[in-house]
Amino acid sequence: MKRTTAPRPPPRATAAALFILAAAAAGGGCSGPAGEGTGKGRAGDAPPTVLLVTIDTLRADRVGCYGRADAGTPRLDALATAGVRFTAAQTTAPITAPAHASILTGRSLPAHGVVENGTFALPGDVPLLSEAFKRKGYATGAFVSSQVLARSHGLARGFDVYDDRMPPANLRQGPVLRFAQRRGVDTVDSALTWLMALGPKPAFLWVHLFEPHAPYEPPPDLAARYRGNLYQGEVAAADLALGRLLDGLAANGRERDLLVVVAGDHGEGLGEHDEATHGIFLYQGVMRVPLIVAGAARGIRPAVVDGTVSLVDIAPTLAELNGLGPLGGADGLSLVAALTGQGPLPARPGVFAESHTPRIQYGWSGLRAFVDGATKLIEAPRAELFDLAEDPGERQDLAAARPAAVDAARRSLAALVQRARDAAPQGAAERAVSEEEMAQLRALGYAASGRRAEDGELVEREAVDPKDRGAFLRQYDAALAASQSPHPETALPLFEELRSTEPDNPAFLESYGRALILAGRNDEAVVVFRHAVSVDPGFALGWHRLGQLLDARGDRTGAEAAYRRAIATDPLSILSYKALASLLVEAGRDADAQAVLTEAQALDPGDKAIATLLAEVRVRTGK
Ligand SMILES: [Zn+2]
Repeated sequence: MKRTTAPRPPPRATAAALFILAAAAAGGGCSGPAGEGTGKGRAGDAPPTVLLVTIDTLRADRVGCYGRADAGTPRLDALATAGVRFTAAQTTAPITAPAHASILTGRSLPAHGVVENGTFALPGDVPLLSEAFKRKGYATGAFVSSQVLARSHGLARGFDVYDDRMPPANLRQGPVLRFAQRRGVDTVDSALTWLMALGPKPAFLWVHLFEPHAPYEPPPDLAARYRGNLYQGEVAAADLALGRLLDGLAANGRERDLLVVVAGDHGEGLGEHDEATHGIFLYQGVMRVPLIVAGAARGIRPAVVDGTVSLVDIAPTLAELNGLGPLGGADGLSLVAALTGQGPLPARPGVFAESHTPRIQYGWSGLRAFVDGATKLIEAPRAELFDLAEDPGERQDLAAARPAAVDAARRSLAALVQRARDAAPQGAAERAVSEEEMAQLRALGYAASGRRAEDGELVEREAVDPKDRGAFLRQYDAALAASQSPHPETALPLFEELRSTEPDNPAFLESYGRALILAGRNDEAVVVFRHAVSVDPGFALGWHRLGQLLDARGDRTGAEAAYRRAIATDPLSILSYKALASLLVEAGRDADAQAVLTEAQALDPGDKAIATLLAEVRVRTGK
């Protein structure tokens, strides 16, 4: 079944040639040097190249080949024409780091342990696809476009190069923190530079594009074309970046023995089921992702495959196609037979996904979803059952009408979860997170408030059912948007109303406090942050913000105490060390400042601001 030694087709039939032709036919055009490489030699002369592209927050039904008329995705559509398009691929999690951990390990969440963004890292005993490629002699490169996939999340193992450099200008913009990210075209250019320097070595290249993720800010031409639908403009921008990457590979002579996998990590709610973005619910707008595999030189035959598959299948499939041997602990299945036209999809009892964010971040119940063909079960304090064939929008809950079907789905789901738990890593997944990272995560509504993943069951019968907080979530989204608009004061009545529903939710209180700062209501923000740290004394960012507010008010004693609490709560709070040191310098307490800066420098020897301040203080203290 392994196709790595399959006879190579003549150059005109290569995958690249096919998708170049298809792109032209689709009106996408294909300028530049892409065509030049196709006639230069046979695939046998070309170094094998395996390209994995993950497009963040890409809903399947917003891609042209999945039925969207004005998608602006000619390159994705052309790949689908040249290769295999899976119509019912499901994610394992509605957020980035857990879903990518599944893609790169072939494991679902219980089997890899990365259940939330930011606060978890892949344990060292979980094998990665990149390590298998490296053992096989491939050069391995990863190029990611968002801080949420920074190397600290443990996915860099096995990669010769893990490029997670984000433009520093993106890190902070006044009190509105932005998630560090970079444009897809910049990530692609970095990847191509690496590839060009490799020479003829076989390569495994993973490129992560962040474009469709909020905030939706496509380049001006796409913003004009998709006015009123900027999410789609970002999808089109991601497709342009993909095109640049494929053209660059072709110009490099790497299209002749090229295997391409493109997948969305999860979708986007776009207002369906009370969810504007993603991260809470497991409805199909978020769960169903595009999955396309192309590579004529590797025996991939054009097809459309309708059976249920999962992102956990990507790693076992690439392992088999490239003769890497099985990936230990993977609960995904190889799709090679379906890709090569030699057989059906493997038999399986369905696939599943988990959402831990509502539990860890909001203190509600988590969710778990099971999909098998048209059957969809969402486990929650009140379970829901849907028939995806009759009701793809999941409007009609059939759980009460079909108890036997609920029971059957529940049994299948329990077996899948148990199998994944049996492969659970021994190493711990939860990690220390710096306050700066936490601030960035919170800016996008991610990041935990201190609740631990292993405390209790994911789905808690007695806890708040997230679907009962639909009105809260809608208004919360509106409040967050208003707080970042030119009129941040318009957010305050929305937040005040929401507070009666979630009076002690630290993640919510942090957003509310930030909105008050943006509206210039610092005194009220102090009250909110004082409350937040009283309900969650381990809330380092809350202490830090309180310190900033008291500092601005001239209350040095109060500010110092708050910064010191932030540092004690989270020893990686570099922001708090810096703020405290500059406060102490201003107060003329150079010796105290020196002690704080020396500790901070030990934590981050590369921080230039700390080094500069420490040098100044040393000159003054004469030490
Ligand atoms: Zn994502």
